[in-house]
Amino acid sequence: MVGRVAARISYVTKMDRLVSDQAASARHNRILAILPDDELKRVLARAERVHLRPRQILHHWRCSMEHVYFPTDGLVSVAAKVDHNRFLDAWLVGREGVVGAILMLSGHDHMPAHRRIVHVGGNAIRIPTHDFLQLAEALPAFRHALLKYLAVVMVQTSQAGVCNAVHPLKQRLARWLLVACEVLDDDHVPLTHQVLSNLLGVRRASVTECVSVLEQNGLIRNERAHIIVADPAELRKAACACFGLIEREYARQLTSRCDAPTHAPAGQPGGGAEPSRLPRH
Ligand SMILES: [Zn+2]
Repeated sequence: MVGRVAARISYVTKMDRLVSDQAASARHNRILAILPDDELKRVLARAERVHLRPRQILHHWRCSMEHVYFPTDGLVSVAAKVDHNRFLDAWLVGREGVVGAILMLSGHDHMPAHRRIVHVGGNAIRIPTHDFLQLAEALPAFRHALLKYLAVVMVQTSQAGVCNAVHPLKQRLARWLLVACEVLDDDHVPLTHQVLSNLLGVRRASVTECVSVLEQNGLIRNERAHIIVADPAELRKAACACFGLIEREYARQLTSRCDAPTHAPAGQPGGGAEPSRLPRH
């Protein structure tokens, strides 16, 4: 009898540790990071941790979505269709965001107008779409965080449209490098000139030319299939104002936990999204 009780206690302790490890890992995603512990636990009960492979398509254009993804590292591109067989990257999602959050506005039968593809491999917390919608309905802080994130995405996409129309290529390239750096939480940006040309909607030769200018100015180092941000503060000065505008909008909407239930102070484990890693103006 005593042996059975001891085994049961040991099992419960192991399960608690497993749940705690899973929660710590999930909080690398900045949306999950701002959830109170009880809601995160309920989200993770319906989720699984998966590896994302480079070039893996998470959502096909106009095909029903099986899962919603919360990346904990890596980089996913959201690509818009520009003609019959061609997609251009419209924006990037990493651990600051959610891949497929639009579902909560459009419901089960949503057929995405974008293709979402992994550029840099990593890991994600994945939730079946049916469970995702139920959780968004049942959990107020989860729903609140997702709506705030969608508000940021709206600002991000409209700003990107203006940026493409008005700002010079070198400034836009600097902006995308800062975005990638921020999303990956790393100064090494494993994006090729071809991927950058897709993001910027220009020829690869134009990207190579701008990369060369930024490198000559000591802001970046160009290596094989990698760009290293050598001087983030100067690169920020070289970028257009759009980066700062979107970054401030994200911080305004999602870093603050003023109207979401909180269980720990910001900056503490489980206590909210981390501040930007890049130096500010
Ligand atoms: Zn811009």
